[in-house]
Amino acid sequence: MSGAGSGGAGRGAAAGVVILGGGQAGIQLADSLRAEGYPGAIDVFASETHLPYQRPPLSKDFIAEGADASALPLRADRFFSELDVTFHPGVTVSSLDRSARTVTTDTGEVFAYDVLVFATGARNRRLSIEGADLAGVHYLRTLDDAQELREELASARSALVVGGGFIGLEFAAGAAARGLDVTVLEQGERIMGRVLTPPMSSHFAGLHGAERIDIRLGEGIVALQGGGGPGGGRVTAGVGAGGEVYPADIVVVGIGVLPNAELADAAGLTVTNGIVVDAFLRTSDPSIYAIGDCCSYPNAHTGTMTRLESVQNAVDQAKVLAKTLTGTPIEYVELPWFWSQQGANKLQIAGMVDVAATTFTRGDPASGKFSVFCFRGDTLLGVESVNSTADHLAARRILGNRLPLTPAQAVDPAFDLKAYSRAAVAAA
Ligand SMILES: Cc1cc2nc3c(=O)[nH]c(=O)nc-3n(C[C@H](O)[C@H](O)[C@H](O)COP(=O)(O)OP(=O)(O)OC[C@H]3O[C@@H](n4cnc5c(N)ncnc54)[C@H](O)[C@@H]3O)c2cc1C
Repeated sequence: MSGAGSGGAGRGAAAGVVILGGGQAGIQLADSLRAEGYPGAIDVFASETHLPYQRPPLSKDFIAEGADASALPLRADRFFSELDVTFHPGVTVSSLDRSARTVTTDTGEVFAYDVLVFATGARNRRLSIEGADLAGVHYLRTLDDAQELREELASARSALVVGGGFIGLEFAAGAAARGLDVTVLEQGERIMGRVLTPPMSSHFAGLHGAERIDIRLGEGIVALQGGGGPGGGRVTAGVGAGGEVYPADIVVVGIGVLPNAELADAAGLTVTNGIVVDAFLRTSDPSIYAIGDCCSYPNAHTGTMTRLESVQNAVDQAKVLAKTLTGTPIEYVELPWFWSQQGANKLQIAGMVDVAATTFTRGDPASGKFSVFCFRGDTLLGVESVNSTADHLAARRILGNRLPLTPAQAVDPAFDLKAYSRAAVAAA
């Protein structure tokens, strides 16, 4: 382990890049720094003890009956030694001294940095209602969370999902496929309402309903009931705001996340829904940067400050930052894109849909394969595709290159989106 013991300042002039967080963004940054030829020390601190792994399968394949219980690694085992990156698993950085340019770990060790990067991700928002601590109440963020849930899924017959967002619905689809009775409580008027257009929300509500997932809209949870025993025992049911009781062997809570920004905040960096960065991903301190789920950045596609929770954002921000840190400063302007797998249905989103904008549908929703194009005036904002990767990839090219597209072209089945997007990009 590099760095100095308690009270000492790490590697002095050769302090290098210190990365807080060994997730999607932090590992990509270490990788890309070496790919860009960064010669100095790289230290990655990771609160979790596991080798870095992918989170998306945790709410998808991991839930499926008979699925492989091992985590999908982000990189091969030899990654750290081959790239001469010092990995500190199970070590949480707990304080930051900006004037000394040091961080201190929870074990009291002090490490110096030339450049510090927050890649600390986010954590689950937790329920704070009666019964929230009962056994059988689960969250889904880490491999440990997913492994505990898997064990209980083997014997559970019914599940209550609190929150009709991506993670709750991915889990619901997987649990229903295993034969569980699943109820989803969503306090909003529609599922995935914060991030999807109304037609796409209602399409997915129909798909899940057909799989006998009982979706209750406009229903909040007010308490969880337990079966007694020490500490309240195991959860047996949830109670809705109107008093309805929903029996369940397990409860999965997916009510959003909070950025891990407290350390940055305590050190005096600007924090507003995440660690605020400029277009170069630099915080209010020029030697400190932030990437991934923990940061709020100026989104070139919407003109607003945005905090995204997606693999694309974590990976692309890391790649762009690696260029900046190796002498080619680059603004982060990548097009956001995202996917979700819910049962047999793959949802892919390109750009940023605005739930209040005008929508146009390409293809027939009844066929299970179609796309929703979201426009404000003549401007295409984003495209949601179901089981249509060709539309999604064309949409990424069109949006990423700001190619013109009219609503009439978007809905015309004779208009070859793929050919148009390819030709226009080639000509540019
Ligand atoms: C179940 C699940 C399913 C998902 N599915 C999809 C999907 O289908 N598509 C998609 O695009 N995205 C998906 N995501 C989101 C995607 O995984 C995240 O956006 C991505 O992991 C963010 O990367 P990150 O590096 O910013 O954060 P993380 O990958 O969360 O890594 C941050 C790490 O930093 C550690 N850390 C925090 N503070 C400290 C500290 N002080 N010291 C040391 N370490 C610290 C944390 O423990 C954590 O391990 C999913 C997420 C989850 C949880």
